[in-house]
Amino acid sequence: MHPTASVDSPRPLTALSEEERFFQSTVRQFARQEVAPRVREMDEAGVFRKDILKQFFQLGLMGIEIPEEFGGQGGNFFQCVLAVEELSAVDPSAGVIVDVQNTLVNNALMRWGSAEQKRRCLPRLAADTVGAYALSEAGSGSDAFALATRARDSGDHFLLDGRKLWITNAAEAGLYLIFANINPEAGYRGVTAFLVERDFPGFQVGKKEDKLGIRASSTCELILNDCRVPKDNVLGEIGKGYKIAIETLNEGRIAIGSQMIGLARGALDHALAYARERKQFGTAIAEFQMVQRDLAIMGTELEAARLLVYNAARLRDAGMPFLTQAAMAKWFASEIAEKVASKAIEIHGGVGITRDYPVEKLYRDVKIGRIYEGTSNMQLLTIAKKLLGK
Ligand SMILES: Cc1cc2nc3c(=O)[nH]c(=O)nc-3n(C[C@H](O)[C@H](O)[C@H](O)COP(=O)(O)OP(=O)(O)OC[C@H]3O[C@@H](n4cnc5c(N)ncnc54)[C@H](O)[C@@H]3O)c2cc1C
Repeated sequence: MHPTASVDSPRPLTALSEEERFFQSTVRQFARQEVAPRVREMDEAGVFRKDILKQFFQLGLMGIEIPEEFGGQGGNFFQCVLAVEELSAVDPSAGVIVDVQNTLVNNALMRWGSAEQKRRCLPRLAADTVGAYALSEAGSGSDAFALATRARDSGDHFLLDGRKLWITNAAEAGLYLIFANINPEAGYRGVTAFLVERDFPGFQVGKKEDKLGIRASSTCELILNDCRVPKDNVLGEIGKGYKIAIETLNEGRIAIGSQMIGLARGALDHALAYARERKQFGTAIAEFQMVQRDLAIMGTELEAARLLVYNAARLRDAGMPFLTQAAMAKWFASEIAEKVASKAIEIHGGVGITRDYPVEKLYRDVKIGRIYEGTSNMQLLTIAKKLLGK
């Protein structure tokens, strides 16, 4: 500690505690050793390897904030952000799998689950069950509560009907958090959250999307056909699902910011290595000042995005307001990640757009950052609302 610093001095955002540093280096090492060699194969197959998913569970990455009494790591939200960043530097598909599990599904259960639901679901989510979060539909994206999926009371259970679209982790999941409207006349106040097991009658995982990027992360349709859901499986209160969705997505998008800074860091690292090694005009291209300028801007924008993401995560952990900071973090990180990934390709020259170099994949993977968990426009609307005092 600097002699003028006191124990009360605020900690720099990028200064990690010993526990955070250990956690970060464990995930970094795992990502480099176990995930990196399989990234290309998984991207080409469009399938995430089961053995790596199993390792996520063994390392505690699927239950970071789940309390130890339920078999989780008892960690904090900031650690989720660190895990997503480290995985995404190697493979943004790996990053989003861990993001959805921790910041959306586990988070919703921990905050709104009854004691019985927590006992029933959290140990599985920490140990071996992938979770999925199903809000979006064909007609309901940015307009998130225009749901056509309906729930109706049928005695001791509810019957769910409809189709969900774009559901991350759907192919691998065992437990689905599904939002349906139980009282359409009440508009968004009819939206209710249900815990749906994969083997419930009337539930089916539909078509898997063939995507531009994050190809190894599954994105599927869900089909609910008079799906029988016991009454005990309503998460939170009937008609309060909109609150669960808004609040979990407010947090989840910080980790999407983290996915984007991880991706940008991966792209910058590849660009730096290539610039040192590639020779033109008899010298490494890293010696050219115009290349140095590009690298310097990439590094600075990445650092700025990281500060926004870390600050939003630390505000959340401190129980302070973070809504605007989360929107800023997600918007900015996804903007700069796209620029960094694009520049990384240019620094590679022609080989940058071939599948022989990893920057081509990162450039494909980056596009989703400006779309899911609220598009860039929706983030800007949130920020503008705050600025205008609306
Ligand atoms: C790979 C992938 C994974 C996903 N995973 C999940 C998941 O796990 N769970 C889940 O529930 N959903 C998931 N989604 C859905 C995702 O959250 C939506 O795609 C996203 O919210 C955008 O909705 P949309 O696609 O319907 O686009 P739209 O809402 O139709 O938007 C189209 C365009 O119109 C703009 N627009 C819309 N409304 C406004 C407005 N009011 N002002 C200004 N511009 C506006 C948007 O910014 C966008 O540019 C996923 C999507 C993808 C592609």
